[in-house]
Amino acid sequence: MDKQSTIYIAGHRGLVGSAILKNLKEQGYTNLVYRTSSELDLRDPNQVASFFEQEKIDYVFLAAAKVGGIVANNEYPADFIRDNLLIQTNVIDSAYKNGVKKLLFLGSTCIYPKLAPQPLKEEYLLTGELEPTNEPYAIAKIAGIKMCESYNRQYGTKYISVMPTNLYGPNDNFDLHTSHVLPALIRKFHEAKETNAPIVEVWGTGTPKREFLYSDDLADACVYLMNTYEGNEMVNIGVGEDISIKEVAETIKDVVGYEGKLQFDTSKPDGTPRKLVDVTKLNGLGWKAKTPLNEGLVQAYNWFLENETAKS
Ligand code: GDP
Repeated sequence: MDKQSTIYIAGHRGLVGSAILKNLKEQGYTNLVYRTSSELDLRDPNQVASFFEQEKIDYVFLAAAKVGGIVANNEYPADFIRDNLLIQTNVIDSAYKNGVKKLLFLGSTCIYPKLAPQPLKEEYLLTGELEPTNEPYAIAKIAGIKMCESYNRQYGTKYISVMPTNLYGPNDNFDLHTSHVLPALIRKFHEAKETNAPIVEVWGTGTPKREFLYSDDLADACVYLMNTYEGNEMVNIGVGEDISIKEVAETIKDVVGYEGKLQFDTSKPDGTPRKLVDVTKLNGLGWKAKTPLNEGLVQAYNWFLENETAKS
């Protein structure tokens, strides 16, 4: 990308898109294009087609998606599969029809089989059954990866797919019902501290393990790969180590400064037992995550204090 290239960030208000936009601005890219969902509904093929015709976009970061945690995925499976298929199909196809030079598609590690060996290597895609709680979302993301690969094969485009591990950071969704574990626990511990509640409920058994990547690190990796990676195979983006939900809950408890107890609510699902990604390929391409979990959590908690507590 040149500093003057026209770069479209789809989903610029979300956790990933906002971090990519910030990174591009910091690196001196000046011609950045973005639209809110009320200005441009990416599920509508006509709106997306006219947007691409008008804007003459060179590069696309496709970070727009319908996302949510384990309960949201279970309750709204139709919304997850439909909205994601529509958004990615419209954007990828319009990018092709309008001569976009390169597109980066953001997948997720839930595309890997539930019981795949750990750490998850890129080649494990489609080698086994998916985790049922987020299968519709995962199927949509797999379709997006295959669409990028297929367009590259048939039309000679340069579309790359990256699979980030669990993310956290500013602009995350902190709604207790639909969010992922990290923002949910930040809110729960904060509110328990404020109200002197003696117990915080943590879903599941606490034994599943997850890997957490700070959104600024992900953005840095995306911009780096957009500039350097030309391959047709997807690339995992992660830190290369994971931690149990119990341990992460205790870390957040300390960051927030809550002094009560944790209680595990085993009526809630655990989800997949573990999903650590193999980052050999990413490291080999010359990129490594920088932000330690403790440091990222302090930043995420500060963002929450400044932006979310006023709303509650
Ligand atoms: P997943 O990574 O797709 O399974 O989605 P989540 O981030 O929602 O959940 C990860 C793990 O954290 C699961 O084992 C959840 O049961 C557990 N967890 C513990 N407390 C919470 C909570 O308050 N909210 C969420 N979303 N998950 C929680």
